[in-house]
Amino acid sequence: MTRCPCPGCDREVQGDGFCCTEHYFALPQKEARSLLRLHISAKRERDPDNRAHLISQNHGYVASAFRRLLERNKEVSSVS
Ligand SMILES: [Zn+2]
Repeated sequence: MTRCPCPGCDREVQGDGFCCTEHYFALPQKEARSLLRLHISAKRERDPDNRAHLISQNHGYVASAFRRLLERNKEVSSVS
């Protein structure tokens, strides 16, 4: 079982996803799609070294996407 990589989220990642469904749809659609594409192509990579490299690269992308998401949410809640 894999947990959603979004900080503070403990939902389970379903199927081929890289994060829980809720956070997938919380990300900008374009970003979510390209992260999902990268995630799937990393899983399909046959060369173990290459795969490890792609997976750790994706972790970085996913982490920074969620950092930006949380930043935006903070801005929104501080305004209202
Ligand atoms: Zn989540």
